[in-house]
Amino acid sequence: MGFDFWGFFEAANTHLQSQPGHVLALHFREVDTFNCSRCAQCCTLPWSIGVTESYVQRWNAAFTQHSDPRFHAVFEPMQLGFPSGHFAFLKKQPDSYRCVLLDEDNLCLAQKHFGVEAKPEGCQYYPHIWQKVSGGLKVSHLMQSCRSAPSYLLAEPELVYRVIPEQEAESVHGGVFPITALPGLRFSREVLYLWLGLSLNTLFFEAELRSPIQNLRALNYALGQLLELTSRRTETVNLRPVDLEQIYQHHSQQHARQPHQIPLRTPFALEWFLRNLPPSTVDQQIADFFDSILKGERLWPSLTSAEHTLLNTFLRNYLARKLLSMHQWFSQRVNLFQQILLLAAFTTLIQARVLACRELSGEEISLELLTTSVNLIEGRMIQSYSWIESLEYHQLGPLACLQESERLLDLDLTLPPGERRLASQPFMRRF
Ligand code: SF4
Repeated sequence: MGFDFWGFFEAANTHLQSQPGHVLALHFREVDTFNCSRCAQCCTLPWSIGVTESYVQRWNAAFTQHSDPRFHAVFEPMQLGFPSGHFAFLKKQPDSYRCVLLDEDNLCLAQKHFGVEAKPEGCQYYPHIWQKVSGGLKVSHLMQSCRSAPSYLLAEPELVYRVIPEQEAESVHGGVFPITALPGLRFSREVLYLWLGLSLNTLFFEAELRSPIQNLRALNYALGQLLELTSRRTETVNLRPVDLEQIYQHHSQQHARQPHQIPLRTPFALEWFLRNLPPSTVDQQIADFFDSILKGERLWPSLTSAEHTLLNTFLRNYLARKLLSMHQWFSQRVNLFQQILLLAAFTTLIQARVLACRELSGEEISLELLTTSVNLIEGRMIQSYSWIESLEYHQLGPLACLQESERLLDLDLTLPPGERRLASQPFMRRF
């Protein structure tokens, strides 16, 4: 993609200075063109459907007085102080993840009987989600846990932007600038924009020569430089645009000098996959498959050129969406460095599942397999803070996050064709 995101965000910063009271609205094109397939998958995932106190106050009486007993006792109180701001959950149907209000025909009972406004807010907008960070940025994206959303990831990414009055951007999770990237390091609005530019430019750097995962690894280098800034100063650092510009210049030079081929040390990622994947995302066959690879009983699969191209495009476009919307997480419970680690973890989980399913089914990688894998990983884990806690990622320091992320990204199925020679060699454990 020959687009200079850094230059774009620099220009946006300048423009917004002359437009007080306005925000930048950003999204990739599919946010406008998305069509719901009415598959109801989102109503059957293991995540919790949260509702606000005002929703419960408005609908509880109507639900409990309804003649259909399925409307009775649908709410489950949420623990006080839950950071999402929700007041209660919708219960699940017995022995399943189906929402209590999902009818047998896969339509929402609340909508059927009371109209669309009776659906919780999240259900009305899903998979669209957007966040305004107070002061000047609104990012919309599609949640990739939706069955249809990843099918847009093969199209050439097209970033859409508008400058809109602040009142048009109601805030779902209103962060306040400066936002904290980690204790001791804070981003102003201008710096956040430039950070987005740096991240996206890095992802697309020499896209014809480097894999998206190699470029993601290179982002760790810039993050390491951010850390140096904080360690030199003991007080809180409000990062200035000029600081980030210096980092960007230095980072770009370093990145350009790095070899295009980065050695594979995949066993760490595979062992991590076997150790940490939640049982709901993978079956024993997949675990056995990687176990036999790690023991040297199986050869490392060799992907075709078409599969490589498909994976490369799909994962690059997936990562672009994640990088654009990442700030919403590090302004909440997971800081920037922990979020980078999660991004590496998701990338590893998706690739490992895709590879195992390919081998076990004997069928080449397809858009459908990629979509199912992204759905599964995003639906089961990105919403699951308990999974993050079980890995203790929420407690890892920034350096540890970078190191773990670097090792996870050793699994790279998107390497340029020249690298496939390495990937097709018999697999040897090196750790
Ligand atoms: S409330 Fe309706 S739309 Fe929301 S999860 Fe339940 S069934 Fe689906």
